[in-house]
Amino acid sequence: MTSDTPKDELVIALSKGRILDDALPLLARIGIEPTDDPEKSRKLVLETTRPGTRLLIIRATDVPTYVEYGAADLGVAGKDVLMEYDGRDYYEPLDLRIARCRLMVAGPVGDPPVHGRLRIATKYARIARDYFASRGVQAEIIKLYGSMELAPLVGLADRIVDLVDTGNTLKANGLVASETICEISSRLIVNKAAMKTKHARVSAIINALREVVEQGDA
Ligand code: AMP
Repeated sequence: MTSDTPKDELVIALSKGRILDDALPLLARIGIEPTDDPEKSRKLVLETTRPGTRLLIIRATDVPTYVEYGAADLGVAGKDVLMEYDGRDYYEPLDLRIARCRLMVAGPVGDPPVHGRLRIATKYARIARDYFASRGVQAEIIKLYGSMELAPLVGLADRIVDLVDTGNTLKANGLVASETICEISSRLIVNKAAMKTKHARVSAIINALREVVEQGDA
C-alpha cells in the first residue's frame, strides 16, 4: 500500500476502450480533461486541464496493480478485472456504473447439456473456477487470453465464460448465453496510502464523481 506518486500530484489509471470512452465524460464533468486525445496520442502519461493531475493509460488488467502498489493514486477498473485480480489491497469506494455488461456462461446454440466434466474456456479462470465449484459442477478451466468465442467452435471447450453486452458477438459465432454469473460495471479504486496522505484531493474526486454518477441515475 505504498504511495509513490509525488505528494503534490494525483495520478489516475485508466485503460483504453469502453472504460476510457465512458470514464472521460465523467472526469470532464468534474473538471479533469486530458490535454491530448488519448485515443490518438501514443503517450502513456497524459497531462490534464487540472494542474498536478495526470492520467496513465495502461492495460485494463494492470490497473489494480498500479493502484495497489501506489504507481497510481486512483484507477478505474471493471468489476470483472477486480474479481479476477489476485490482490485486494486497495479501496473500492464507488461504482461508476459505466461500461456495464454481464459475465455469462455461453455455448453453441442447440448444444445438449454436458454430462460429467465441463470444459470451460475463459480469460476469467479464477471467477469461473469459483462459480462452478460453488454450484458443485465439475469443470476443467482452460485459460485463454482472447477470442474465447472460438473455443467451442473448434472443440477446445464445451462452454465459455465471457463478458456479454449486446450479445452480438455470441450470435455472430453461433453461441448463446445460458447463465449470468454476475452484473459488471467499472469501479473507482484508490490506493490506501494516498487516501491518507492526499486525503483532501482524493476525497474531493470521490465525492464529485459520486455526485455525477447519482445525477446520471436521476
Ligand atoms: P457484445 O457483442 O456487445 O455482447 O460484446 C461482447 C464483446 O465485447 C466480448 O468480446 C466482450 O469481451 C467485450 N465486452 C463487452 N462488454 C465489455 C465491457 N464492459 N468491457 C470490456 N469488454 C467488453
